[in-house]
Amino acid sequence: MQAKSYRIWGKVVDGSLNPPTDNGVVVTEGERIAWVGEAANLPEKYKLDGYEDIKLPGRTVMPGLIDGHTHISFGESRSEEENALYAPAEFRSLRAIWNAKKVLQAGVTSAFDAATTYCVAQAVRDAIDTGMFEGPRFAVSGKQITNHQGLEDSFPNNMPFPVGQCAVLVKTKDDLVEQVRYQVKDEVDAIKVSGSNDNLLAPDALEASAFTEEEFRIIADETHRLERICAVHARSRGSARDSAKAGFDIIFHASYIDDEGIEHCLKNGCIINPTLTLLTNLVDASQEQAGASGISAFQREIDAATENLGRAHKAGVPILTGSESGWSAVPYGEWHARELEIFVNLLGMSPLEAIHAATLGQTRVLKRFGDQVGKLEAGRLADILVIDGDPTEDITVLQRKSRFDYIFQGGKEVDRTPVPPRKRMWYERQKTFLDGVLHFNEETGEAVLSKEP
Ligand SMILES: [Zn+2]
Repeated sequence: MQAKSYRIWGKVVDGSLNPPTDNGVVVTEGERIAWVGEAANLPEKYKLDGYEDIKLPGRTVMPGLIDGHTHISFGESRSEEENALYAPAEFRSLRAIWNAKKVLQAGVTSAFDAATTYCVAQAVRDAIDTGMFEGPRFAVSGKQITNHQGLEDSFPNNMPFPVGQCAVLVKTKDDLVEQVRYQVKDEVDAIKVSGSNDNLLAPDALEASAFTEEEFRIIADETHRLERICAVHARSRGSARDSAKAGFDIIFHASYIDDEGIEHCLKNGCIINPTLTLLTNLVDASQEQAGASGISAFQREIDAATENLGRAHKAGVPILTGSESGWSAVPYGEWHARELEIFVNLLGMSPLEAIHAATLGQTRVLKRFGDQVGKLEAGRLADILVIDGDPTEDITVLQRKSRFDYIFQGGKEVDRTPVPPRKRMWYERQKTFLDGVLHFNEETGEAVLSKEP
């Protein structure tokens, strides 16, 4: 579909923290926004023919959502093994581009991909950028840089580090620099580091930092020298503090950050992206066996994050939304706006602040096109949502795709024909011969399948 020119009428929430305009208009011309303001002030030249009017009662017009934490290559994996071992790179790439459309159809017009398997995220980004497929505009990290204490070195020492893991294992300080340079050659927008472990993979692994402050500094300095964004997975107190000290741009999770860490975030301009949707969804799934530590550990982490990140927000640390979409607890296209509701309910944000955290606030970490998206403003790309309802009154409306009248990306109306369901290939998840143990019952002479160990 070609980009036309539109006059879109409604309550305009522009992505900034400025009060919304109740009777507003957004004018688009081709791929860009031409004018935004009060309907009463609409200039004569935009009143002429040649614009299609979208004028429905009770509508809100706002920028497309920006999801600050996706994993487009993960294919809704249920386990570390599924993600790291199964499905070849070629299949993952095709699966990822198929999933990217679902993300766009949820109103996510841009996204930051926070670690990939192989170079799938770069391929998805470029396939969308070059107009081959539809999906969000992506800025992407490569594989996470980890060591033996970081997230993703999760397999036993008696096997080699899997090549399909969404991380790369480094052992020396020199290798940190080498790995940053190698990934920049692979066209990443950001370097991501596994700064701590995770309750999903190791029980209560939330205290220590995987890397020293000096090592964080080596990575941050080289990444910034090469003009890339530096991001870190840092659930623990130490990893959040030391990565903030080293000047990382994005600290993911930061659930256990303390006052010292908050102070360094303020000093160095670090942003926190907690991705509480993943933890909340895992608790909601109420499965006995959820992660290495069980659901009570996730609830404990949510409680700690509520306290610590509420304090960080009050202190003025920018906090952005991210869904973690790519794991089976957060399938593509369904949970991208839940984080906004969580920010309102747990961190004390106003709905307007939460919308800012999912739009204009994100643009600092999207170097490639940050000044082009995230805000309804003349000259920016026309990435626009038209919503039946008012998210500044009820933030949950953004979670309901049926309430979106239109999604525009670069002035073009996004095709919203639902992506049809697909079948799974046998090699995507695991290679189980038989799901259980086949016992012999002596009395009956029959075979009995038992799920017990
Ligand atoms: Zn993640």
